[in-house]
Amino acid sequence: MKNSAKISLHSLYDKLYKNYGSQGWWPLVDLKPEINPTQRGSYTGYHPGNNNYPKNEDQIFEIIIGTILAQNTSWVNAEKALWNLAQENLISENKLNKLDLDELAQIIRPSGFFNQKAIKIQNMLQFLQKNPISSLKKLEINVLRQNLLDIKGVGPETADSIVLYAFNKPIFVNDAYTKRLLSRIGLIPEKSTYDFIQNLFHSQINANFVVYNEYHALIVQHCVYVCSSKPKCSMCFLNQYCQKIIPIKSKKKAKKSKSINKTNK
Ligand code: SF4
Repeated sequence: MKNSAKISLHSLYDKLYKNYGSQGWWPLVDLKPEINPTQRGSYTGYHPGNNNYPKNEDQIFEIIIGTILAQNTSWVNAEKALWNLAQENLISENKLNKLDLDELAQIIRPSGFFNQKAIKIQNMLQFLQKNPISSLKKLEINVLRQNLLDIKGVGPETADSIVLYAFNKPIFVNDAYTKRLLSRIGLIPEKSTYDFIQNLFHSQINANFVVYNEYHALIVQHCVYVCSSKPKCSMCFLNQYCQKIIPIKSKKKAKKSKSINKTNK
């Protein structure tokens, strides 16, 4: 089913924000009591409407580690690994530097790919020893991004998440959710590259870390709960703009088409 109404990236942001409100990313362990009212489940540590985080280098460090733990897994799993580190009082450069690789891998086990992630965290720790957070803060966005990309195990999404969420510098974080939503709506071709999508946002949305922060988080929110792999198009507030509304078959119709398929075999 095709629709003619087109939506701009600006309007898409407005509609997502109107529906979900501020997402308050990046969640931090010491903000446990603040639960994002728009999130389901037991997600904690968000700070909706408050863009003054991270407030110190410890929180910046925690976000950097969190971006590695969040690779190829849900935040729920990354958060479990982060909590394991927090319970052992290990979210600290000094303490992690003293930790043996196998021990680190076991502690972050819930995040999946824990052996590789332990190595990636150690690579990051080596990088931070030569490039302290205080000096990284002063770098221009592209220089900071390139330095991060030079670390083994840090790809564009992780580098951009660090630039945006740890250092509050305006860069758009693209990911599989962004690609899914934008291609379904009809704003990009399905096979668009990471850079193409990021450039699209940079060319249409003014460089502002608060907006980029919220925009990425809002897309994740929408794609987790509505525009999921089995999208709930009938309840989607974007369906009048979407080029790829996927009709949900009623159980009766699905049963009927199944039996028709059987008879045709
Ligand atoms: S849930 Fe459906 S209508 Fe909404 S954006 Fe996704 S594909 Fe389009």
